[in-house]
Amino acid sequence: CGIFGVIGVSDASNFVALGLHALQHRGQEAGGIVCHHPEFGFNSIRSFGYVRDNFTSADVMETLPGPLAIGHVRYSTAGSKAAVIRDVQPFFGEFSMGGAAIAHNGNITNALALRRELIERGSIFQSSSDSECIIHLMARSLQKGIPERMEDALRRVEGAFSVVAMTRTKLIGVRDPLGVRPLVLGKVGDGWVLSSETCALDIIGAEFVREIEPGEMVVISADKGVESRHPFRPQPSKFCIFEHVYFSRPDSIIGGQSVYETRRRIGVELAREAPVEADLVCPVPDSGTPAAIGFSQESGIPYAMGIIRNQYMGRTFIEPTEQIRNMGVRLKLNVNRALIKGKRVILVDDSVVRGTTSRKIKEMILDAGAAEVHFRIASPPTAWPCFYGVDTPQREKLLAATMSEEEMRQHLNVDSLRFVSLDGLYRAAGEPDGRKNSCPQYCDACFSGEYPVEPSDMIAKGFEL
Ligand code: 5GP
Ligand code: SF4
Ligand code: MG
Repeated sequence: CGIFGVIGVSDASNFVALGLHALQHRGQEAGGIVCHHPEFGFNSIRSFGYVRDNFTSADVMETLPGPLAIGHVRYSTAGSKAAVIRDVQPFFGEFSMGGAAIAHNGNITNALALRRELIERGSIFQSSSDSECIIHLMARSLQKGIPERMEDALRRVEGAFSVVAMTRTKLIGVRDPLGVRPLVLGKVGDGWVLSSETCALDIIGAEFVREIEPGEMVVISADKGVESRHPFRPQPSKFCIFEHVYFSRPDSIIGGQSVYETRRRIGVELAREAPVEADLVCPVPDSGTPAAIGFSQESGIPYAMGIIRNQYMGRTFIEPTEQIRNMGVRLKLNVNRALIKGKRVILVDDSVVRGTTSRKIKEMILDAGAAEVHFRIASPPTAWPCFYGVDTPQREKLLAATMSEEEMRQHLNVDSLRFVSLDGLYRAAGEPDGRKNSCPQYCDACFSGEYPVEPSDMIAKGFEL
């Protein structure tokens, strides 16, 4: 998901709409904005579909006035997969000291246990979302202020959370102690901005100030500016390495590093680790593009657009059902036949999950007369599900959970298939010595099976590590 908030500008919700539009790649199912105006109080709109279709008309935006607003774009990982408006964030709660709204990115790994406990003690849940636990935990806290209630609530929550929240007068940002999901602070005029990624600061002309640190809470008010707190026990950080591989936008900066440059360097690593003779290097657009550029630069094999993407389709993987996803590949990608015919082609993609994309593309490209097809994948085999906010399927559906690399190659029926090594990925992500196996610098559980936070709800349901 994508989260964004602004304080201290007039018509903050317009900025939030733009910010969410720049974060649309993080979630396309639905979006919502909550705002506060000193005279009119809180208001909110939550809708299915794209930000550009829901939050651009003057009629709509006029109903969201005020100097303070937050927003969320949703991609369902927890909660129901069916489109239910009550699962769309931000969530709102009324407390004795006033209202508060929260927008959450990540996934709470003990949400089922918390929900059961909260319901037994009288909480009335409105949604099926794990994020709603935070509001109910806040309601049960005995603290006087809303930020303090949030601290109490988040200390009971396990897993991955970046949160943007608001009260009548404050904008609040928090990252979980491991800092699994991103969150950055920006400045726009006299106001302040919180955003999942820096690309959404650019769109409103905000200046990047710094990242919110893992385990940090910032409480921002228009008059007092930014106050920083550290409510959690410090732990070694475990930022999601898959943000570098796929999830973030290539024009964002994470940890001082350009996401584009990291992806390009993954391609360089791949070309060194798994060279092959061929005529063309082609990306599977758009997610494979920077790595394909790096592969071409390192190998000297010309880069070409062998597959053309229809720009009017969303990200296939994020479409919630298998059937739509299956169709999606053909609706979205087509082979550039004139270029491919008779050529030995290296195809570069960011990841293989179920193998749906790769299999369809291989069929399309052989059908177009390619002489050879070599897959190079810019992440290690995805053999484990993510429980921290990226929607990977159950373990059984992951190709790499049951097959070796050679079995996957046969299954996809391609001339060769190679994945970047975990060390190669770490080198590309700015760790020259690769992965420290004793205490990895990132979360890489979907590749390694080493989960930095025990997924306790899933273990209770029978998931085996
Ligand atoms: P597959 O077709 O193998 O099931 O999925 C791999 C494709 O899905 C890749 O092209 C990748 O760009 C795309 N993708 C989109 N969202 C995700 C995601 O959340 N996780 C992973 N691993 N791949 C994703
Ligand atoms: Fe990221 Fe993978 Fe860890 Fe999930 S399991 S947080 S996708 S690295
Ligand atoms: Mg892709």
